[in-house]
Amino acid sequence: MTARGVRMAPGVYCIEIPTPFHVGSVNVYVLKEEHVTLVDVGPLTEEAWETLQEGLASIEIRMEEIKQIILTHHHVDHCGLLERVRRVSGARTLAHPLARPYVQLDESFMAYHDEFFTHLYSQSGVPADKMIIIEKFQKLMQTFSQPSQIDGLLKHEQIVPLLPEWQVLYTPGHSQSHLSLYREKDRLLIGGDHIIKHISSNAFIEPPRDGSRSRPLTLVQYRTALQMCADMEINQVFAGHGEPVTNHRELISSRLQKNWDRTNALRQLLASGEKTAYELAALLFPTLYEKEMPLTLSETIGHIDLLMILHQVDVKERDGVLYYHL
Ligand SMILES: [Zn+2]
Ligand SMILES: [Zn+2]
Repeated sequence: MTARGVRMAPGVYCIEIPTPFHVGSVNVYVLKEEHVTLVDVGPLTEEAWETLQEGLASIEIRMEEIKQIILTHHHVDHCGLLERVRRVSGARTLAHPLARPYVQLDESFMAYHDEFFTHLYSQSGVPADKMIIIEKFQKLMQTFSQPSQIDGLLKHEQIVPLLPEWQVLYTPGHSQSHLSLYREKDRLLIGGDHIIKHISSNAFIEPPRDGSRSRPLTLVQYRTALQMCADMEINQVFAGHGEPVTNHRELISSRLQKNWDRTNALRQLLASGEKTAYELAALLFPTLYEKEMPLTLSETIGHIDLLMILHQVDVKERDGVLYYHL
């Protein structure tokens, strides 16, 4: 099947790129104005590369015409092909500053990243033989992306270079580097993985920026960034995966409600006595917790954070492990 770019709105096209991941295909958006901008590129696979080329050809764009690439965030399903597209097109890459070390596959950052998760996972009560999961992250990065560069940094509310109608919104939570793009005249949001119709985004835990001591409370941050969007007038969200969202307020409110449902489930689990985050993750996600540990531990710890902020849960440390109790 030949991939096609689909026109979504004036000057906005979508190319659906296959990924080898559970999430399914990823949407690359092409902003075709005086200059051509790509929003995300897809993972580093031959299939993704071919699909991207076919999709661009179907809307009569040559790779060489791409002037800039904007990354919604640093996950490999969105940015793995970056270096290949850069080499052929000569395009500049624009992204949030926190995407940079991931995109560069910076060695000292990756070591710091591993160290952070080793500490977090031991505190969470992850058994020693399960810590191998930490190495998997680097392998994933190395398999589905290659070292690349970011040429320009984007910050909240700035106008996107070469695209005077589009504004940058910093929408962290799913990832610390997450940006969305907003066009006020027709109230369009290119939302990356911030708002997705058919799946609720995970607020992945990441190491703190600049080596500061405390990790960002990613679920709290994610909920706040969702509320920021709920307060905005948005006709359509063009998401990183799946179909556009046309009822963003309703969707956001149901996502926020689900968080409370999960905090209630956690409190019920803690009613029978203290538990570690790893034990809670195993009880909350019995079929997923081992295979998808970064995801399920992020979810669990994120919801514990909500309960801690509200003083509904307390914590004790013993031998470097955190035990939560009501
Ligand atoms: Zn993502
Ligand atoms: Zn994604």
